[in-house]
Amino acid sequence: MTFQNTLEFAQSLDAQDSLSKYRSEFIFPQVNGKNVIYFTGNSLGLQPKRTKAYVDEVMNDWANLAVEGHFYANKPWWDYHERFAEPLGKIVGAKPSEVTVMNTLTVNLHLLMVSFYRPQGKRYKILCEAKAFPSDQYMIQSQVKHHGYAPNDAIVEIQRREGEHNVRHEDILAKIAEVGDELALVLIGGVNYYTGQVFDIEAITKAGHAVGAKVGWDLAHAAGNIKLELHNWNVDFAAWCSYKYMNSGPGNASGCFVHEKHHADKTLNRFAGWWGHNKERRFKMEPDFDPVQGANGWQISNLPVLSLAPYLASVEMFAEVGMEALIQKRNQITAYLEFILHEIDKQVDSTFEIITPANPTERASQLSVFLHGEGRTLFDYLMKNGVITDWREPNVIRLAPVPLYCSFEDMYHFGQILKQGIVSN
Ligand SMILES: *Cc1c(COP(=O)(O)O)cnc(C)c1O
Repeated sequence: MTFQNTLEFAQSLDAQDSLSKYRSEFIFPQVNGKNVIYFTGNSLGLQPKRTKAYVDEVMNDWANLAVEGHFYANKPWWDYHERFAEPLGKIVGAKPSEVTVMNTLTVNLHLLMVSFYRPQGKRYKILCEAKAFPSDQYMIQSQVKHHGYAPNDAIVEIQRREGEHNVRHEDILAKIAEVGDELALVLIGGVNYYTGQVFDIEAITKAGHAVGAKVGWDLAHAAGNIKLELHNWNVDFAAWCSYKYMNSGPGNASGCFVHEKHHADKTLNRFAGWWGHNKERRFKMEPDFDPVQGANGWQISNLPVLSLAPYLASVEMFAEVGMEALIQKRNQITAYLEFILHEIDKQVDSTFEIITPANPTERASQLSVFLHGEGRTLFDYLMKNGVITDWREPNVIRLAPVPLYCSFEDMYHFGQILKQGIVSN
């Protein structure tokens, strides 16, 4: 399709957009009396209007039933998390028994590493990406230290080549083969948080398994954003947060995946708690731990139902929309934003360098842009004029045109405001 940088054209794309009705399901902050153009749904998704009713339901059941709510609430609390299995499984390509919700992301990755990072003999190394999200770096460093290894020996980072912004797929595969039988675990972010690069989860998982390693994924920027087939791709484990693309509120609960092939293995090490115990016998308060067969067997504590309520609202919305439709719009709106950036680039003195891969199969809902010749004042200008972006020093903005609530018209207006901001500085 040939795009045009006009309001009429943007509006015509909105008119053909089958997801456009969802925009009105979200609450937008206002600047100068108008809805903002929101590009930071990769950091904190907007609040869906339907969420409040889910939270109110729990508040009301708590008020009216108190402890009886565990069994007699409208959605009983004791197995509230089981409502996620079906819809969340569809979002990440898993069987219902392979997913669960609990804790927060970094905590869950730590807990899953208790089971899947079992260094032994010469096999003790963890492969990750250089400049991974800080929490992942600290997590991996502390895990190898916990097992008595030195981070600079036990952690192998995949480097970007000199002068390149993205990691080359072939370099990841080569590194896995090189580390070979010293490799205990591959643990990478499915979508890089800084550049928006999407990794080939299936191929990397296969390569890790070929040398005898376990393979886990941090899907913080992937869940609700890219097509995932965790079961078919034979991923060992994964976890993601729910507050980025999944719109379930600040710091909210994480989702986890544990592949079916590990469910019956009672020799797997794990940190246990009563919520992971045999469901029928959970309240018999028995002394010996008998894990639920499935991802729920990794549960520890009884669940924060008040935080799961917004997550459930969101998961049900995603189930309604379907990842196919979401991805189709995602590709189109991201391409339109890219086009707008190139158009504005031609009209101003500054240059925009998009560091996210240009290949649509290697990117998703984010464009990270170097604004050469521009600085923080441009970011402030955008903010004051109702465009919320993520600014990284010295001059990178990350833009996520989230398909559920961003419109093509937003992209057009953004281009105009950006141009004005550069010209007027
Ligand atoms: C957002 C993000 C996190 C955040 O972890 P929390 O434990 O939820 O604070 C971790 N890793 C990556 C890659 C992220 O993008």
